[in-house]
Amino acid sequence: MSDNSEKKGSNDCNEFAKCLQYLHLMLDNEATEEQEIYLKNHIHKCMVCFEQYEVEKQIRELLRSKLTNQKVPADLAQAIRNKVFQSA
Ligand SMILES: [Zn+2]
Repeated sequence: MSDNSEKKGSNDCNEFAKCLQYLHLMLDNEATEEQEIYLKNHIHKCMVCFEQYEVEKQIRELLRSKLTNQKVPADLAQAIRNKVFQSA
């Protein structure tokens, strides 16, 4: 999983790694209230993380609805992710 190299450029967030971590915690319902508030405030101002949040949310909803009780291959998630980014 090293697809970050091509995504650099115009949209950059210097807290992206942190936001991504919080984002995953939140989508897993494992974030603390503090983390959730931080992320929500942040994506309000940061387009990069907002888009990332939308993408991750869509992926999860898609996978949940289509593949209930099934294990999801990592490259499928990646394929969906690429598709969402392309159409954005
Ligand atoms: Zn950000």
